[in-house]
Amino acid sequence: MSDKADDTSFPIRAKLVIFNACRQPTTKIFCCMCQRDVKPDHPCRWVYLTSQMNAVHPADLHLRTPKADDLGWQRIGIECARKLGDEWTVDRPRIE
Ligand SMILES: [Zn+2]
Repeated sequence: MSDKADDTSFPIRAKLVIFNACRQPTTKIFCCMCQRDVKPDHPCRWVYLTSQMNAVHPADLHLRTPKADDLGWQRIGIECARKLGDEWTVDRPRIE
């Protein structure tokens, strides 16, 4: 997968999250990428998503004005976080 931002209008680093739309999560706590349920006691990471499923690089978040339709901080499983690139995710979401 390319590291190039998919939305080139962003002056910040962003990366499209290819998610598995075929799977329907059965709980409200699920990985935004593979749509698998994340058990509450299992570790996960967090990624900030726009409405277009672009991950915003955590280091660039402060450069971007949040939009009302942002998906915001979403859980992402450890495996998927690794696939996306660990630097795109955080241990805990920062509430701005
Ligand atoms: Zn996943």
